Amino acid sequence: MAGPDMQRLFIALAPPPMLLPSLVTLRDQLHAEVGGRAMPAANLHLTLAFLGETPAAQVPVLLARLATLSRHRAHWRIDRVGSFKTGSPKGCIVWAGGPASAGLTELVGTLWQALREDGMAFDAKPFVPHVTLLRAAGSVARTMPPLIWPLAVPQLYASIATAQGPRYARLGDP
Ligand code: ATP
Ligand code: MG
Repeated sequence: MAGPDMQRLFIALAPPPMLLPSLVTLRDQLHAEVGGRAMPAANLHLTLAFLGETPAAQVPVLLARLATLSRHRAHWRIDRVGSFKTGSPKGCIVWAGGPASAGLTELVGTLWQALREDGMAFDAKPFVPHVTLLRAAGSVARTMPPLIWPLAVPQLYASIATAQGPRYARLGDP
């Protein structure tokens, strides 16, 4: 249900700044190979929980809860590229990802438990960590030299539809 007092929310990690150039280069290489629509650098992220249409009144509750999560010292390793079929004839979502590390699994477990304690609705289908790089592209599947992603505190985002595609606004920034 969309409405003026609803926002399309998700919780994610933005790439550490030092990883962004490698992800953009990878995106561009894949785009040259399998086409599709390249995601803008500002849109690259790792989704940890998808809440979808949520009453805007919940935003302060979510921000307060995220502020209680401690910074993890753990890392996640991106070691492959792959694609998801979307069901649309337009093609695949192409992503960079890798198995969840113990630290990432713990972070997502803590986050999901906190959301449940706060009575937040979210999509609890199994977590498949990936960073979307292309949409409506051809398929790809291979390993790659690893990129190490130091985990940080998850951030709350609103997904805002625009004529140029979705824009993700980080909420709670001063
Ligand atoms: P669009 O759907 O407009 O093409 P998008 O998928 O980038 O663009 P959203 O659907 O708002 O934008 O999704 C925001 C983030 O949440 C993306 O990382 C998306 O992959 C993820 N996401 C969307 N729906 C789900 C879901 N049901 N479960 C898990 N993650 C989801
Ligand atoms: Mg979507």
